[in-house]
Amino acid sequence: MVENVDILRDQIRAGDRRALAKAITLVESTRADHRQQASVLLEALMPDTGNSIRLGISGVPGVGKSTFIEALGNYLIEQGHSVAVLAVDPTSAVSGGSILGDKTRMETLAFAENAFVRPSPAGQTLGGVTRRTRESLLLCEAAGFDVILVETVGVGQSETAVADMTDMFLLLLLPAGGDELQGIKRGIMELADLILVNKADGEQANTADQTLNDYRSALHFMKSRFAHWQPSVMACSSLHNQGIDQVWQQVEAFRSALTEAGELEQNRALQARTWMWSETAEALIADLKNHPQVQSLVPELEQAVTEGNLPATVAAQRLIEHYKAGD
Ligand code: GDP
Repeated sequence: MVENVDILRDQIRAGDRRALAKAITLVESTRADHRQQASVLLEALMPDTGNSIRLGISGVPGVGKSTFIEALGNYLIEQGHSVAVLAVDPTSAVSGGSILGDKTRMETLAFAENAFVRPSPAGQTLGGVTRRTRESLLLCEAAGFDVILVETVGVGQSETAVADMTDMFLLLLLPAGGDELQGIKRGIMELADLILVNKADGEQANTADQTLNDYRSALHFMKSRFAHWQPSVMACSSLHNQGIDQVWQQVEAFRSALTEAGELEQNRALQARTWMWSETAEALIADLKNHPQVQSLVPELEQAVTEGNLPATVAAQRLIEHYKAGD
């Protein structure tokens, strides 16, 4: 599919967006020869990566993620930044459709010169989507984008996946009265380095104030992810471009506090090591499952485990023994 990886590498380094799009298609492919080319390309580009701030953005459908990304993205471009937007949308794997894949989203940003908007890779498992998005993020950095936004839908595991590939995690919420914390799971709130109450405009402005207070008190009882950053809650209106510059000030403050303390680098190093081990585990499992010796044993072992005749640990050991014994 790619004739010459060296040429593609040079084009990406030069910031060629068509080459970047092509390279992302390459890393999204599951074909073995494409994977091989993708690995060569990524390895060659590693020295060009790492020079962006990586932001994760999450919130339930309808909270205003794409409106927010458009507002923040356009603001950043005005400030001279270049912005890439990626997505992790596991719903596309489950339903075949996609929450984040809608083509009409982020229209002005998608056509802006210094922006690059890429929907979530379709038809893959969360693990697959996560891997491709991580690799795409590195490609975007190599192409010179200095702000990378990774969007995800608020459906549980995907938030953790996005927090694990970004530096700072932004959680968008709606203004809501009452003391219910919008059913947001504590685990998700604990990932947030900045909470934004969006749609704080018009009739909702007062409700937003109440929501700010509720979440501020909730944050008091939570442990922050970083020693040198205390998460906070802010209001904004993405539709009316209000509060967007303050959001960016917070991102800058986060970045300098963590960079100065060495925590940003430590976190990235930890993310890279964790990624290496999860890749290793996934590749090993895939190889094991494809192994003829193992395959012939699986039906019998699965049945024994299902019927309660064999402990799962013993069955696992047998699979591994056969895997290791036969080449
Ligand atoms: P997403 O599903 O989280 O990406 O949400 P969208 O960005 O598509 O927004 C959902 C709806 O909320 C759209 O009709 C937006 O125009 C509207 N919306 C988004 N941000 C704001 C805001 O700050 N204020 C108001 N009033 N509406 C907003």
